Amino acid sequence: KTQPQGMFGVVVVGVGRAGSVRIRDLQSPQLPPSPLKLIGFVSRRELGNINETKQISLQDALSSTEVDAAYICSENVSHEMYVRQFLDAGKHVLVEYPMTLSLASAQELWKKAEEKGKVLHEEHIELLTEDFAFLKNEVRGKELLEGTLHFTGGPLDRERFGFLAFNSIARLSWLVSLFGELAFISASMEEQQENQYQKMTVNLETMDKRPLTWIEERGPGLKRERRINFLFESGRLESIPPPTQVQQNIFLRDQNIFVKKLLGQMSTEDLAKEKKHSLHCLGIADEIQKYCQHPQ
Ligand code: NAD
Repeated sequence: KTQPQGMFGVVVVGVGRAGSVRIRDLQSPQLPPSPLKLIGFVSRRELGNINETKQISLQDALSSTEVDAAYICSENVSHEMYVRQFLDAGKHVLVEYPMTLSLASAQELWKKAEEKGKVLHEEHIELLTEDFAFLKNEVRGKELLEGTLHFTGGPLDRERFGFLAFNSIARLSWLVSLFGELAFISASMEEQQENQYQKMTVNLETMDKRPLTWIEERGPGLKRERRINFLFESGRLESIPPPTQVQQNIFLRDQNIFVKKLLGQMSTEDLAKEKKHSLHCLGIADEIQKYCQHPQ
C-alpha cells in the first residue's frame, strides 16, 4: 500500500514533549487540509495506542511502503542514527534540532539526503516565535557595537541531550539569524556535576569584528529566561516585551515549512540558505565543544 499522489504517510519517532505535540498536530484536522497522514509512532516504551494511532516497530516503520516521512523527536544522542536509518530506507526526514551532535555527521547526512533525493528538514522553532520576530524587527538597519545573549533554564541530561552548545543551539541560531555568520573566538565552561549546574560562556565575533557573547546557564531552579543586551550605534536594547498573543503553535508552523519542502514549493535558494544556516550553527557548536575539551 502506498499513499495517493501528493499525500505523505508519516511516522513519529520518540514520544516525549516534542513527539507528543507532533502527534497531536498530525491527528488534528487542518485548514487547508494537510497532505500528511499519520501512520503510526515508534517508541522504545510500550505505549499501545495514542488516540487512534498505533505504535509500530522501528523495522516496520523503515520498511513500510505506507511511510514516506519520519519525524525524529527522540533525545539528541539518537538523532543521527535514526536520521541515517530513515534516509537509507528512502524516507524524507524532519528532525528536531539539533540534527546531530557533530558537524561532520550533519554533513554526511546532508550528503545522503541529496544522493537519495529526499527532504532533510531540521526544526528551528526558535525562529518562529513572537520574541524572535520582535528582535529581527528591532535589529533591522541598526549597526551592532557589541552584544550579549544570556539564557538560563533547568538542567539538561548530557547523556541524552549531548554537549551544551549542541542542545542549546537555538541561541546560536538566534544570534546568527540576527547578526549574520559569526566567528568563534573562545569559550569557557563552569560545571558542578553534583549540583547539575553548568555555565558556558562563548565569545563570538560578527563579520564586522563586533563582539557577541553567548552565556548558557543551566541548573535546578533556574527560570527559563532570555536576557539580552545589544548595544547599537543608535542605542541599547535590553529587553524583549512580553508576548502580546497566546503563543501560536510553532511546531505546527514548522510542519508547514516541511510540507512546503515535500511539495517542492520552496526555492532552491531558500533551501540552500537553511542548510547553510544549520551547518554554520552546528559548526560553531563543534568548535565550542573542541575548545572546551582542549582549551588553547
Ligand atoms: P523529552 O525528554 O520529553 O523526550 C526525549 C526522549 O525521551 C523521547 O525519545 C521520548 O520518547 C523519551 N521519553 C520521554 N519520556 C520518557 C519516559 N517517561 N520514559 C522513557 N522514555 C521517555 O524531550 P523533548 O523535549 O521531547 O525533546 C526531543 C527533541 O526535540 C530533542 O532533540 C530536543 O532538542 C527537541 N526540541 C524540543 C523542544 C521542546 O519544546 N520540547 C523544542 C525544540 C526542540
